[in-house]
Amino acid sequence: MPETPERSANPFRALPSVDELVRSLGEADGAGPLARIPGAVRVELAQDALDALRQRIGAEKLDAAAVKEHVERGALLADLVTRATREAGRGVVPAVNATGVVLHTNLGRAPVHPEVAERMAAAARGYCVLELDRYSARRNERDGRLGVLLARATGAETGIAVNNCAAAAFLMMQTFAGGREAIVSRGELVEIGGSFRVPDVMARAGVNMVEVGTTNRTRIADYERAITADTGLLMKVHTSNYRVVGFTEEVPPEELARLGRDRGVTSGWDLGSGRIEADGARSLEIVGDETVVKEAVASGVDVVAFSGDKLLGGPQAGLIVGRRAAIRALRKNPIYRALRLDKVALSGLEATLELLLAGRGDELPARKHMHLSREQLRPVADRLAAAIAGLGGFQADVVDSESQPGSGSAPTVFLPSVAVRVRWDGGSADRLADVLRAGEPPVFVRIHDGRVLLDPRALLEGDEARLLSAFRAVASA
Ligand SMILES: *Cc1c(COP(=O)(O)O)cnc(C)c1O
Repeated sequence: MPETPERSANPFRALPSVDELVRSLGEADGAGPLARIPGAVRVELAQDALDALRQRIGAEKLDAAAVKEHVERGALLADLVTRATREAGRGVVPAVNATGVVLHTNLGRAPVHPEVAERMAAAARGYCVLELDRYSARRNERDGRLGVLLARATGAETGIAVNNCAAAAFLMMQTFAGGREAIVSRGELVEIGGSFRVPDVMARAGVNMVEVGTTNRTRIADYERAITADTGLLMKVHTSNYRVVGFTEEVPPEELARLGRDRGVTSGWDLGSGRIEADGARSLEIVGDETVVKEAVASGVDVVAFSGDKLLGGPQAGLIVGRRAAIRALRKNPIYRALRLDKVALSGLEATLELLLAGRGDELPARKHMHLSREQLRPVADRLAAAIAGLGGFQADVVDSESQPGSGSAPTVFLPSVAVRVRWDGGSADRLADVLRAGEPPVFVRIHDGRVLLDPRALLEGDEARLLSAFRAVASA
């Protein structure tokens, strides 16, 4: 049978050139959000889109007419727009947290106070007084001021700051027990968030870990028996993200501190979430029985480590407070240089602690969000539900729910909350969550019983409007 001209035409000839395709992307987007994608990257993306279509032509044996139709109805350009949108939308992009989880590690944990953000931006934009005392012109420590603020907030003699609490724990282990032994309870050999396992970190710090006790019970005598001339650290680790309940016994920190003092061995406590109570701020007892940093310090333990961006509500950091001599030893460790904080995070921590010490702790977003009651959240949820239902294509109602502090702090604590329960005519809950996450701004939700739940607990100033504009975009797509 003779072939028609359409059939015999080479389908690959029906593809536009890379240049043509790049040009149509420019026309489609104009000065839109894709404008900041550099020309060379546009060319790369256009080549990728063309390659993908070439593969389809081969796999599905598309003829020239089918390819022409595909290109003319805009499907190739749409594929390129999707690729370009994803290129522009990746990276550290502001998002709306409608999960109700206040300290969401994947979403950047604690949002800082607007005044704190201002101070951080100012430090980032220009020069700042960092390793110099401006009144004597002498060199000093970059976290000297922070040490003073930490002392005021925790009752410790001084403090030091590193990149995060994992770095703090590492520095503590390496400084006091590197090339020597650290004694730790079997019940505290935890894994914290993915790959941070206490035994592995100890090994990498060159520490010979000596495990004592059992999973559920460890006594001071267990530590005492294990001490040798080689012991450099008696370590306590807060089992942040899990609980052993029932027949349990944990060594009181006072006993650990006393044993350390008697035997000339440093005692250290990785507290993790770092609950600081301050005058004029509501107590964080709402998150359960988390040890208050001040009480940990008062127990007499030499050094206490905690995060800057968990319950403290500041930028990412690991803080170690304690006795002056022990902090000096940490500072003298050359590894500190590799773990120390930059000027931006340092200025943010100073500003956060100053707010807390000025009696304004309740203004810190993370702390404020933890304290929101169901009654305070309900009007927000009601407003959102009415607005979403009014968009068409959605059904929305308000249900009681529970949210979590997050970041492994207080795993057994649930905060009474409310949520907007949404059903979408356009697809399943998973599909709606996907579309919202890929949208602008990205919105993160919870899914429960096959429904999308929007928990207003962690919404910030302006987020209600951003959330609605994200839903409006879904409705009109
Ligand atoms: C969260 C946590 C860490 C890790 O803190 P980052 O700031 O995430 O590095 C370490 N130890 C404990 C006990 C924690 O709870």
